[in-house]
This record gives sequence, structure tokens and C-alpha cells, in this order.
Amino acid sequence: MPSIMAKAWGFGLAFVAAAALVLALRPDLRLAARVAWNDPRLLPAFANDARVHYEPQALACAQAVAVLTPRAIAQIESAHGRPFARPPIVGVYASYETYANANAMDDPGIAAVTRAGAALLSPTLCSKERDRLEGVLTHELSHVHLSGWRPLGAPRPPQWFTEGLAVMASHGGGAEGVSDDAAAQAIRDGYRVVLDERRWIDFAGLGFEREPPRDPAKDPLTQRQRLAYRQAGMFVSWLRMRDETAFLQLLRALEAGKPFEGAFQLAYGESAPSLWRRFVSDLLSQRSRRGAGG
Ligand SMILES: [Zn+2]
Repeated sequence: MPSIMAKAWGFGLAFVAAAALVLALRPDLRLAARVAWNDPRLLPAFANDARVHYEPQALACAQAVAVLTPRAIAQIESAHGRPFARPPIVGVYASYETYANANAMDDPGIAAVTRAGAALLSPTLCSKERDRLEGVLTHELSHVHLSGWRPLGAPRPPQWFTEGLAVMASHGGGAEGVSDDAAAQAIRDGYRVVLDERRWIDFAGLGFEREPPRDPAKDPLTQRQRLAYRQAGMFVSWLRMRDETAFLQLLRALEAGKPFEGAFQLAYGESAPSLWRRFVSDLLSQRSRRGAGG
């Protein structure tokens, strides 16, 4: 029946044209489509651990990741105080191009990204930056854990909090090369990260009260980012030590999709910026006590 075939073709073409038009007009949908087309779940699963998916050329890296994954998962469940909502997925890439398509950031220089409930690992973590693999994997699993519980479309907590949580939970993943002492000294010297309410900031956009000095031997964006992440991680650790019950109450509220500011206020009886000022003054008084003791 040629006429029916022609009609079906016509409908098909109209559908493809409409989909293309929607994707051209809506960058958010275009991003979602690109992430879906490059979902790591479409890659083969590693034989000994179905949570790890990998490009066939990245078999050795997938093996290394599969060895680290159970410990990283246990560490995140203990730090967040709850199991994962569903088994986390880890994508292991051999090609920077495939990795950049999957992370949809067009930046193969980023070591790892969490997208749609999966942690995507750059090939650099099994080559040049192999020493960061465990920390970065654990850091990303913190993002996977939080996003796995949050209802779709729930307001995103501020980036300083999600990154600080991930740095704390992974014992410094993502803040390599900046020690607690160096970050504390930077805070005392006035190079303090700004607790920005924005939900997503590019690495260049992280604000400091005073621009920290740069080591010309290091990449400027990496330096700023790791100092900011370390400071955020120290603040989140301090919040947890100050009141563990309030901290877990805050996490449960964020997982339920509650907006950050209200959930924070309810848990701690104070705002995050006000507690940040206490955290900073604690650090400043440590210096004066040390100074007094010689
Ligand atoms: Zn992160």
C-alpha cells in the first residue's frame, strides 16, 4: 500500500523535523538528549561489578575502578548516614572525546562529572592523574548519592555545600594539593571562599573575598577551585562536628527535595552565612591562642 507508506514516511519526517526544532530551540533539552545518547549504562558492564560500565579500550581502568568501588560506596554511605537510593553507576572512558560527549561539558580537562545519577570518569584518572582516582571516584559518588535521593526537579542545593560535602565525605577528593592547614591559613589571611547561593558556577566563577595569590607554576583555575573546595569541605566538616543530629537532619531534608536555606535554618536554628562567620572566627581565635602560647 504505497499511499499508506508515503503517509507513514510523511509523519516520520514531520516528527523528526519537530524534534530537531525543539532541540534547536531548547538548549536544556538538547543537553538532556545528548546526555541520554551518551549514557554510560549503554556501555558494557564490567563482569565482576555491574555498577561499573566501560569503553572496551578502558578495561584495565575498569578493573582498577571495580576494586575501589565497594570501599568508596561504603565510605559515602557512612558519611551520608544512609544507603544509596539505587545502585550507583560509574562510567569509565578510554577516549577523551566520548567522555566529553557523555559529560556534556565539552571540557575533557574536567577529571570527573556526575550526570543523571552516574559518575563519569575521565581517562586522565587512569593515566596522568592516577593518584587521584580513588578520591575523585569517592567524591563523585557523594554527588550520585545526594542526587539519587532527590526528587526530579527539586531545587538544587548551593554548589559550595554539595562540593564541600563531597570533599569531606571523600577525605579530600577534588581538593588535592591543598592541605587543611593551608586552607585555614588562607581563610585567616582573608582569602575566603564566598558562600554563594548560586546552584551552578563554572570553575572560574567561584568567588573569594580577596583574590588568593597564585603560584605561577600551577594552573590558575585548578588552584582557585581546589582552595575553594577545601575551604567548603572544612566548613561542612565543622558543621557536622558542631551538631551531627542537625547535619543528618539537613541531609535528609535535602534528599527529600526541600529548599536549602529553609532546611538549613530549621536544622541548625541559624543561617549558613551566620555559621560560616562563627567558623571563621574559630579559625581566627586558634591563631591568637597559638600566638599567645608562642
Ligand atoms: Zn564535585
